[in-house]
Amino acid sequence: MKSYERIESAVIHGGIYGDEKTGAVNTPIYQTSTYEQEGIGKNKGWEYSRTGNPTRAALEALIAELEGGKAGFAFASGMAALTAVLSLFKTGDKIVISSNVYGGTFRVLDKIFKNFGITYSIEDTTNLDTLEKKITSDVKAILVESPANPLLTITDLEGIAAIAKRNGILSIVDNTFMTPYLQRPIEKGIDIVVHSATKYLGGHSDVVAGLVVVNDDALEAKLAFIQNATGGVLAPFDSFLLIRGIKTLSVRLDRHVENAEKIADWLSQNGAIKKIYYPGLPSAQGYEINKKQAKNGGAMISFELKEDYDFKKFFASLHLIALAESLGGVESLACHPASMTHASIPKEIREKLGITDGLIRLSVGIEAAEDLIADLAQAIEAAKK
Ligand code: PLP
Repeated sequence: MKSYERIESAVIHGGIYGDEKTGAVNTPIYQTSTYEQEGIGKNKGWEYSRTGNPTRAALEALIAELEGGKAGFAFASGMAALTAVLSLFKTGDKIVISSNVYGGTFRVLDKIFKNFGITYSIEDTTNLDTLEKKITSDVKAILVESPANPLLTITDLEGIAAIAKRNGILSIVDNTFMTPYLQRPIEKGIDIVVHSATKYLGGHSDVVAGLVVVNDDALEAKLAFIQNATGGVLAPFDSFLLIRGIKTLSVRLDRHVENAEKIADWLSQNGAIKKIYYPGLPSAQGYEINKKQAKNGGAMISFELKEDYDFKKFFASLHLIALAESLGGVESLACHPASMTHASIPKEIREKLGITDGLIRLSVGIEAAEDLIADLAQAIEAAKK
């Protein structure tokens, strides 16, 4: 019998804890594709591992509990998770997405779902009044990230949930940048939460995975059907890795955020910085809204150097922070959104959204903040034209 109240305990004991058969404190890796049946139509609850696998089921129960939802679903990547969610829609339906969502989210809508007659429009979801005017009868869902990738813009999740309810459509939040430790969208009335679990949930840059959580029986049944029918499921070993990663989510994120706050303060006082985007700074867009709906500003920071600094030299001069796609691992990463995460967005759209060629995105890791600041300082110095 579990007895705990806080998420710091739930990350360790939540979902299906350990193994009833043996008393193992960790969920075993059920590396099996199928299950012997006692007779026709008689089985132990497991038939085939695309449909269900005990290791994956433990992870799915865990993420559902952490997000405060009814059911969780695990997929082979964040994009597979998003693709499953978008498979809820049909020809003629339109999805509204927030400006500067992850480039891959834009790409799957623009290059795949559009071919099936599911259209999208990019809207400024930070302004709820103008957004609601865009909800025409063909719009069937609003998909937002808050903070959004890579300018870390904040959208009012309660406001989005209210607009969706008023219009009888679904609200979807990609909670990758925050995780349920920092933000729980279902508590704000959001229908579907999606994760690239590759990021903070895995936490060690060693697994690619995606998760979906819903809080409604009908949506649960639909997603279970889509997951089984389309088959982009997470493997047992990767499910185990994610359960293991999630156990340290709270301690890792406390350190990620502590470091990010120090670095954001340091960058905002640095004369070489033209613009800084960090939701934990009082000067940031949506600071008050983020404070209301999230524990803190998270650990992602974006910034631009002034014109007399060469951003390419900055990247080339980093010694500790690695130039790499992705985020949320224990190691700090720097990324160039225009050529990496958001390269699939045409340049004119990118620039209109503020994703300039000089934009630098930092995923602040859990190294010593002093070492990270020293690396940034020397790379900025080396980048001076
Ligand atoms: N959503 C966000 C916010 C992301 O940053 C990413 C990947 O960077 C994805 C979704 C896609 O996830 P994956 O790379 O696990 O497919």
